[in-house]
Amino acid sequence: MSVLSLDDLRSRLPSVNFDEPFNALNAGGRSIGEYIVQWLPITFAILESTDVPSDFIVNFARAGLRDKGLPFTQARLLKVSGLPDEFTEDYRAGQALFLAVSFAPREYKVLSHYESVPFQLVWRSPRLDGSFAVVEHVKEGNVSYARKTVDLALARSHLRETQACIERELAILRIVPNHPHLVKMRAAYTQEKKTVFVLSPWATTDLAAFFAKKETLDWWKQAVHANAVMPMIDSWCVCIASALFTLHKAHIKHRDLKPENVLLHKTDDAVIPVLCDYGLERNYSGSSLSHKTVGAVMYGSPEQNTARKVGRKADVFSFGAILVELYALLGGIPMKKVRRFSNPSYAYSIMQGDNSALISLFPSDTPAWLQRRSILAAALSPEPEERPSSQEIWARLDAVAPGSHCPIPPQLLSPLTDDGRLPADSSSDSDSDVEQAVRFG
Ligand SMILES: [Zn+2]
Repeated sequence: MSVLSLDDLRSRLPSVNFDEPFNALNAGGRSIGEYIVQWLPITFAILESTDVPSDFIVNFARAGLRDKGLPFTQARLLKVSGLPDEFTEDYRAGQALFLAVSFAPREYKVLSHYESVPFQLVWRSPRLDGSFAVVEHVKEGNVSYARKTVDLALARSHLRETQACIERELAILRIVPNHPHLVKMRAAYTQEKKTVFVLSPWATTDLAAFFAKKETLDWWKQAVHANAVMPMIDSWCVCIASALFTLHKAHIKHRDLKPENVLLHKTDDAVIPVLCDYGLERNYSGSSLSHKTVGAVMYGSPEQNTARKVGRKADVFSFGAILVELYALLGGIPMKKVRRFSNPSYAYSIMQGDNSALISLFPSDTPAWLQRRSILAAALSPEPEERPSSQEIWARLDAVAPGSHCPIPPQLLSPLTDDGRLPADSSSDSDSDVEQAVRFG
């Protein structure tokens, strides 16, 4: 924050009389120098960075302007007597530069209300409202991002909880590995009561919206027409599994894996799944694209739905529940038949060890379908210990459709131990889903 003293003013502008009484109604007997020091230190610094003569600061003061009003609009500047048009333009250009904040990758900053960020809202893009957050499309230069704004003023009675969630989300996003199927953070900032996450990619569809209205999506119609549905869905499964494994390897549990939290990002030549809202409280992730989370319970593991201890294997179960829907699509099984096992009795029936009726809905006439059925049965095991790790699921899905997905970053190929942990990590699968984040955050 800029600190200005009367002595600074006097030494920089010796020809100005700063002791002159300030004439505004509410001056309270102060001198014009005192007014500038108190209310216009940033504006003075801006003037000094431009070609506008710095002694115009006196005219800014006489016009009753204060730094609180930064950035000054054209209309406010018109109140400054004697400021010619060309100086107004100079001032506004200097103001924009001076107040612009830049961000290193993944940097978080607390900003003053007048500082401006390099992310411009893209009008006419859809705005996605969740219970705590709004997600909008912004651009930094030509690059698109999703801007997720959490407004503490809207959190009201949940203020402390929301604040804790923001801190957790920030901690996770700062450590999450770079992976093509995980949402990543460009930057984040807090300004007034709002915390903003600038995230990549900007996507307008997620798996839930896809399930609900795929017939309206051009790329889906094209895939159907080109007979390309099976490889596409098989590759999504592998890609999501590799993202989940990457989270687990970074000691992050997703905790709320459901179709709403799987974005579908359309690139130039493919539509790829991208996991978002990982590591958040189940109630807080209402910022995802589709906020109708009616069926969330059907993706929760039996242990989550009965408030038992929840580990990484809960994510494996949730992933299994998503696989059920993807495979139903692939096998041409009506969703109605699949959902008979769900919401709310889905998890319940599985808890009874009874997932065979569900599995038997799926075809068994090809080796690939037999593999898919066995993956489903394993991922949906009622007991967490019986479920495979995300790494194993990933390998088994890859075997169903080898080479059908995008390349795996080499740093992910180092082996884990049998239980899905890094060899160095001897701690138990604790309730803290961000062991690392807490340490480094
Ligand atoms: Zn992939």
